[in-house]
Amino acid sequence: MESSKKLNGAKRRHTASNGNSKAERVNIIEEEQNPKASKRRKSEGLVSKSSSFLDKMKAKLSGGHFRMLNEKLYTCTGEEALEYFNDDPTLFDAYHAGYQEQMSHWPELPVNIIIKWLKDHSLSLVVADFGCGDARLAKGVKNKVFSFDLISNDPSVISCDMSNTPLGSSSVDVAVFCLSLMGTNFPSYLNEAHRILRPRGWLLIAEVKSRFDSNTGGADPKKFTKAVCDLGFTSVAKDYSNKMFILFYFKKKVEQNSKNKDIDWPELKPCLYKRR
Ligand code: SAH
Repeated sequence: MESSKKLNGAKRRHTASNGNSKAERVNIIEEEQNPKASKRRKSEGLVSKSSSFLDKMKAKLSGGHFRMLNEKLYTCTGEEALEYFNDDPTLFDAYHAGYQEQMSHWPELPVNIIIKWLKDHSLSLVVADFGCGDARLAKGVKNKVFSFDLISNDPSVISCDMSNTPLGSSSVDVAVFCLSLMGTNFPSYLNEAHRILRPRGWLLIAEVKSRFDSNTGGADPKKFTKAVCDLGFTSVAKDYSNKMFILFYFKKKVEQNSKNKDIDWPELKPCLYKRR
């Protein structure tokens, strides 16, 4: 309840600082009440220049804050991230405002590709969305979806570190990681997905392309695929067609892998967003 109040507050703040709409509103009211003053202020550029300067400064500050939070999430464990956001849930709102801003520049969102994939499959598939953000996936399909994230601002989202979800073993048909393999302990998230998936269940992973670009220090996608297969999956398909992200499609093997097998996971470098 407390955190949803904070979210609403954050949304209001976000709307208020969004673009020039506030300056335009000031202009309209002023024009109606005092046309002369309005003309002067306009000719002196007092209204739109000062407010757009303030808007730009605010955007710069929040952009910097987002990049700091984003880097934090990529360089700590899920457990540390959970503690960090629980200490101050408004940081989660700040992260998500920045995340949505970044996503607004992407020509296509991976979550929409996953929604389409689910719509092309049976409605009866039970889905677990690991690192769901604003639960866009659950809102976009009619399937039963369990949505997990560090902080819950919506009653449908279960707040937890996704290396340890409250679901039983072999209880879901599809596990989704959409841009959410963030923590340094990401293999433990995939381990958890393996635990809760039924045999032959699907594992869908969408990740930022640069994290798998070996020319710029990214992981070798073949090494990543092999590690996921060693965990107990079969690789079904990979989709490199999008400019911004890769999609991996795996299925859980029917036979259990030997439990103590050492898996050689590649490091997944952080995805650091550029200043705009
Ligand atoms: N899947 C959503 C959001 C992606 S942003 C989408 O495609 O729009 C990545 C999300 O993963 C963030 O909301 C972040 O809080 C969440 N996340 C990262 N590590 C997590 C963890 N250990 N446990 C739960 N959620 C995590």
